[in-house]
Amino acid sequence: MKCFRKSNRGENHGSYKHGKYVGKAPSLHPYGPQWDAIRESIKKRDNHACQWPECNSHKKLTVHHIIKVQDFDTLEEANDESNLITLCLYHHQAIHYNWLDSTWLDMA
Ligand SMILES: [Zn+2]
Ligand SMILES: [Zn+2]
Repeated sequence: MKCFRKSNRGENHGSYKHGKYVGKAPSLHPYGPQWDAIRESIKKRDNHACQWPECNSHKKLTVHHIIKVQDFDTLEEANDESNLITLCLYHHQAIHYNWLDSTWLDMA
């Protein structure tokens, strides 16, 4: 059995390379590492209720980007609270799959 202990010392140890950490990245959420915190703050702002007119569901809540993330240059702008709204899973999907008319959302 060979011993590789030698390589565990110095530069080869860990995941640092050229001074940069190249190991396991922190969870890379598409909406940014702050997303969990942002999402929770939006739900709180919206009283943990779906904002779809006359829905008001408190179940299966999600947070929707009114203007899609890809239309912004930065995640900070896309995640601005003015662009986020709490919706139940049903109404969130309804918007994305065009089941229901969601033009009211775009009327800012
Ligand atoms: Zn959405
Ligand atoms: Zn709803």
